[in-house]
Amino acid sequence: MKNFNPADNIQDLQYFGEFGGVNPSISDSSTYTFLSAKTMFDTFEGNMEGCYLYSRHSSPSNLYLDKAMAAMEGTESANVSASGMGAITPTLLQLCGTGDHIVSSRTIYGGTYAFLKNFTPRFGIKTTFVDITKLDVVEAAITPETRVLYCETVSNPLLEVADIEGLAKIAKRYKLTLVVDNTFSPLSVSPAKLGADIVIHSLTKYINGSSDTVGGVTCASQEFIDSLKNVNSGASMLLGPTMDSLRSASVMKNLRTLHIRMKQHSYNAMYLAERFEKDGLKTVYPGLKSHPSHEIYKTMINPEYGFGGMMTLDVGTLEKANALMELMQAKNLGYLAVSLGFYKTLFSAPGTSTSSEIPMEEQIEMGLTDGLIRFSIGLDNDIERTYQMMKKCMMELDILTAESILTE
Ligand SMILES: *Cc1c(COP(=O)(O)O)cnc(C)c1O
Repeated sequence: MKNFNPADNIQDLQYFGEFGGVNPSISDSSTYTFLSAKTMFDTFEGNMEGCYLYSRHSSPSNLYLDKAMAAMEGTESANVSASGMGAITPTLLQLCGTGDHIVSSRTIYGGTYAFLKNFTPRFGIKTTFVDITKLDVVEAAITPETRVLYCETVSNPLLEVADIEGLAKIAKRYKLTLVVDNTFSPLSVSPAKLGADIVIHSLTKYINGSSDTVGGVTCASQEFIDSLKNVNSGASMLLGPTMDSLRSASVMKNLRTLHIRMKQHSYNAMYLAERFEKDGLKTVYPGLKSHPSHEIYKTMINPEYGFGGMMTLDVGTLEKANALMELMQAKNLGYLAVSLGFYKTLFSAPGTSTSSEIPMEEQIEMGLTDGLIRFSIGLDNDIERTYQMMKKCMMELDILTAESILTE
């Protein structure tokens, strides 16, 4: 674990274009020629290394990004897809069929929650949603039919931290596959090194980082990736959520700066979280000592990348949250938008946006309050200036009062 550095692993890969370009050439073909008919047959059967068949299966550009993602997560292989959901849904459908059962964290991305709650029951796959931070509760939910343990490293939107090593031990004991969505914490956490079997990312967020595309990846053993892409029985191959080559080449170029960006996102988020907490706002950030999982998260991260760029503030009511977000946008402090990992700060009220798939009673039960604002902190050059400007907005709306400023 100590010698594993995901950014160095990416850096250590070497690619040339076919004419010696410093970026690999983009493969711009849906289909590929064969010199002999026999080779075509063997490629269909999956027996030919280095031969391409058809771009829904794989393309040279996608394989470059696959390799980089596998290097980053320390898995044997990876498979990129057209979106994060395009990685999550085939992975789960590859692992589970009729009669199978999944134990999932209840605080997960709204789309994943909706898929497990509303969609997979159509195929006879049942899911029990649990508080993933309580390992005894997780274990108690396992039945003889359970196949998969599913969680996010840092959950959306409440920033709960999953104890991946603890979950991996449970998964081993019951012969389950531990699937971890690591979208919120690329580089910071390396789930496969902590015992996860499969690591998923929405590339849409930090990894691409420019909010110009959706994309996803599944990182796993060679055997599992081969099964996903199998022409006869692979969920990725048959459902067809293929990333386009032009896009994978573009994501690959953005990946080159991920380590620099993550450090700045983490620095800025830590800066704001510490100050707003001191100002008396209910602040959730895994880098704060007050965060219930701070100690465990500290042992999980590759420390140079920090605690990540996601933070929540509770400003009391939905009205105040909405007013603050509109004012901050008007002052150009960020954008009122879902998603994360952009150079600008993005903010939204999860109860009415990204987590709106979750019924109101369940939102209350899991602590998703009305006044909660989720921030993806941007790459602001002068974060002290940003802090002062945000504080001014909060004072204007009586979210912070003169007293709380004076007592500093
Ligand atoms: C955005 C997101 C997804 C879904 O990814 P898309 O690229 O939008 O399909 C899945 N998990 C998490 C944690 C996300 O933030």
